Amino acid sequence: VAWEGGRITWAGPEQHLPRECAQGESFNAKGALVVPGLVDCHTHLAFAGWRADEFELKVRGASYAEIAKKGGGILSTVSKTRAVPAPELAEHCRRYLRKSSELGVTTLEAKSGYGLSAESELKILEVYSEVASDSLPAVIPTVLAAHAVPLEFQGRADDYVALIANELIPEVAKRGLAKFLDIFVEEIAFSKNQARILAEAGKRSGLSLKLHVDQLGDGGGAALAAELGAVSADHLEHASLEGLRLMKQRGVVGVLLPFACLYAKQPPLKARQLLDEGHFFAVATDFNPGSAPSYHLPLALTLACTMSQFTPAEALNAGTLIAARALGLEGEVGSLEVGKRADMALIDAPSVNEWLYQMQPNACVGTIRGGNLISGSLF
Ligand SMILES: [Zn+2]
Repeated sequence: VAWEGGRITWAGPEQHLPRECAQGESFNAKGALVVPGLVDCHTHLAFAGWRADEFELKVRGASYAEIAKKGGGILSTVSKTRAVPAPELAEHCRRYLRKSSELGVTTLEAKSGYGLSAESELKILEVYSEVASDSLPAVIPTVLAAHAVPLEFQGRADDYVALIANELIPEVAKRGLAKFLDIFVEEIAFSKNQARILAEAGKRSGLSLKLHVDQLGDGGGAALAAELGAVSADHLEHASLEGLRLMKQRGVVGVLLPFACLYAKQPPLKARQLLDEGHFFAVATDFNPGSAPSYHLPLALTLACTMSQFTPAEALNAGTLIAARALGLEGEVGSLEVGKRADMALIDAPSVNEWLYQMQPNACVGTIRGGNLISGSLF
């Protein structure tokens, strides 16, 4: 692979390396597998506090309602995240961006959604723009104010939706703080009609759309994503075949989140036949303190193989090129092609099959973003 100014200028078998490329400075990957930099296209990066006590309650069989009663759930993370000062939140984000980069991640989508007030949502999004650095994975920010109805709006969800649509979204867009608008469409969260109102506001402000859908039941979310022209629809554990077909027709990328299935003890979407029919699925971590407390994207790719019947090569594609597509960045990152950013992960394995079949703490020995080594010490 050859690059100049952070962009790939050539990629192919060594014997075909053009002479002009051979003259520059060279690096030897020493037999490592060179794959495109990994793209984690669904994370809830900024939060304060973990929820390990709740983990024990869940293991013992407590329901959502019981956990909420004991002060757990999304709203418990919201009160901690509201209280934490921005510099502390930024330090948390940098820490996990660094850890992701050590695993080979070079681009990471990061949602707000633990603020749930205009002030706190803006604080989180400002932190995302503040932590942006060439020596960490690129952060793609998403506003997910429609993650849950905050306590002060209980019983008045429509008023909260109006606040997001009329005040927060225009402000976020005006200040360039997010690329995407995301909405949690589920019986326990927001209705399809509320999602339509928010999507319309997002469209007016130039934000692209993502949706959390069909995680807890088939709520027709996949069809809604197709109707609203979302870039991606994420979760989909209970999505109907009809909804998935509509997504495929409209080019909506499905994003599967194996950790969320694992922790919620939910059967994952059976993807094999759909992959054979030409559906596009990305795989991401869903990193968050409740349902998916792991940032380990390579492990999520292995689980996509064991739980959803991806081949290792399909899983790699799902964590690179298709994930880039889920972020509208397929022309920029996600594959080793001329003109794209020189983002690569160097993996200590002889093949993709060998890499993803073993659950290793970390097989990545070097991460390159924009042509510069941001993690590892291979060279
Ligand atoms: Zn999520």
